[in-house]
Amino acid sequence: MHFTGPVYCPPFEARSFLLQVTTGCSHNRCAFCTMYRDVPFTVEPLSQIEADLQEAEPWKEGISRVFLESGDPFTLSYERLCRIAELIHRYLPHAQTIAMYASIRNISGKTDAELSALRKLGINELNIGVESGSDAVLRAMHKGYNAREARHELLRLSHLNFLAHCSKNEFCIPKTV
Ligand code: SF4
Repeated sequence: MHFTGPVYCPPFEARSFLLQVTTGCSHNRCAFCTMYRDVPFTVEPLSQIEADLQEAEPWKEGISRVFLESGDPFTLSYERLCRIAELIHRYLPHAQTIAMYASIRNISGKTDAELSALRKLGINELNIGVESGSDAVLRAMHKGYNAREARHELLRLSHLNFLAHCSKNEFCIPKTV
């Protein structure tokens, strides 16, 4: 398996298959975050991703969740995420959930149709560090979006039946699927 730089995942992904598709974080500017401070953002080649999936294939019976690394793999293009999901299903046919970290900016770069198609491919859980519903705090922390934009993108995910793990109370988002 190929892993470059620090590898993080939420505690509840401890038993998931971790697959590195990016290194670092495409934003890497949040004032409080040192997770990938010294790690340049890179996109891993599909040949490497496929090699890792081939290595995991003998254990396919026990793999139902895949967590994509690293800081915000949802920044990848719609087309590339589709290709990665197709490779995952080819080698790990029991995988039902493909989860990852995502930022509000990553979501805003995708249309509703693209989000729906990704969800149908099993990309249906996103972990989002929204951090705050205060524009002043978001600005001071260099999050790269404001509260209105965050609420808009979280509502889109909710309407499209994504499971989004984040602190949404400050935005009064009614539904977590
Ligand atoms: S988007 Fe997430 S990983 Fe990237 S710098 Fe901000 S908190 Fe850190």
